[in-house]
Amino acid sequence: MVESVSEFGERLRSWLEDNLGPGVEATGWSAEDRRRTTQAMFDAGFIGTTWPVEYGGRGLSSEYQTEYNNAVGARKALLANDQVTVGICAPTVFDCGTEAQRQTYLQRMLRGDDSWTQLLSEPGAGSDLAGVTTRAVLDGDEWVVNGQKVWTSAAVGATYGLALVRTDSDLPKYAGISTLIIPMDSPGVDVRPLKQMSGDSDFNEVFLDNVRVPKDNLLGELNDGWAVLGKMLTHERIALSAGTISSSMVSDEFDALLALAQARGVVNRPDVRHVLSEIYMQQKLLDFTGIRMRRALDAKAPMGPVGSIGKIGAAKLARLTGEANILIGGESTVAWRETDSLSPKHARALLRFPIVGIAGGTTEIQKNVVAERVLGLPRERRADRDTPFRDIPKNR
Ligand SMILES: Cc1cc2nc3c(=O)[nH]c(=O)nc-3n(C[C@H](O)[C@H](O)[C@H](O)COP(=O)(O)OP(=O)(O)OC[C@H]3O[C@@H](n4cnc5c(N)ncnc54)[C@H](O)[C@@H]3O)c2cc1C
Repeated sequence: MVESVSEFGERLRSWLEDNLGPGVEATGWSAEDRRRTTQAMFDAGFIGTTWPVEYGGRGLSSEYQTEYNNAVGARKALLANDQVTVGICAPTVFDCGTEAQRQTYLQRMLRGDDSWTQLLSEPGAGSDLAGVTTRAVLDGDEWVVNGQKVWTSAAVGATYGLALVRTDSDLPKYAGISTLIIPMDSPGVDVRPLKQMSGDSDFNEVFLDNVRVPKDNLLGELNDGWAVLGKMLTHERIALSAGTISSSMVSDEFDALLALAQARGVVNRPDVRHVLSEIYMQQKLLDFTGIRMRRALDAKAPMGPVGSIGKIGAAKLARLTGEANILIGGESTVAWRETDSLSPKHARALLRFPIVGIAGGTTEIQKNVVAERVLGLPRERRADRDTPFRDIPKNR
């Protein structure tokens, strides 16, 4: 008999208590800690609740996933396979892969045996991803890939990269690109970490120099990469806002900020009350957007632009959280020193909040999507839409 949602939640919470210890925040874990915990949680039946049974999931409804999100998110346990691998790459392989690719990759992704990274952005292609210049040329049974990617999250230690590559420069820019699965240990893949202003190194440059990839590693049809990317970006917006995984980019900050305001005796100040109430409302709106997304997933209904709406909301919540940290934490938030009584996490939150409005497509791009697809405003003009890619002027 299938356990009920509440039995599942109870079993998961007591598993976390037994295995992570009380009060442990799993944010400081090493990649290896995360991988081992993910594997153990998969083996105990907690991961892949909504995934089809034939690919390693449990085939349950999204209520189990919501329960999982609440229990694991409350422990801030970002697992090895959470956002990029399971939230973004796995559903893209599911949507666009052959049966052989689904069988080869999906269960290993869910279990945390493999981790994936997205090789999309380039120095000359970010919001305008159809401008990628990384080339893949077929040589016998292998693709030969050359180019440079940038801002690649989770590339250090990744097993596979899902890469957007140009496969035909004679076709217009949207028509001549494809998606390739690149084993990251292939000769010619060079991953170089980049340092952010927060001091973290979340992302990397990735250089691809004559990387040889089996012909069968094409995901989706040849020159149909734009359609694959469309699916991937929908999953990404959902995963990064309020969607399907344990820890969205914006975690539950309201309680921590309220406690800090009380401890510092500023909770009755009008500006503090105002920003806290805005955070509370925004967090609730995001929760409801998440429920809408998960219901649409359950019903296998088209997701539409709801991911863009969630992502705009998540970016707003992140900005409000940054502002609240300054108002409540005071000068230590902007210039933290080791002797300060305030925890450095408030300064860190301030330096990290801009990420949410950029990664996975900027807020301006999400607003364009909403303008065109929700409000029915005229589409943005794309003068180079029908020009063969090789004839479009480029910087290099
Ligand atoms: C933390 C983090 C992690 C990331 N991880 C990955 C990853 O794993 N893999 C990956 O491939 N990429 C990743 N990225 C890259 C991210 O997807 C891009 O930074 C983002 O899409 C914007 O592209 P860009 O930086 O080239 O900026 P640009 O596209 O050059 O944009 C610059 C500015 O112009 C605005 N703009 C551009 N076009 C328009 C338009 N048509 N209408 C209105 N405004 C516009 C933008 O909103 C922005 O403000 C990551 C970024 C961050 C910050």
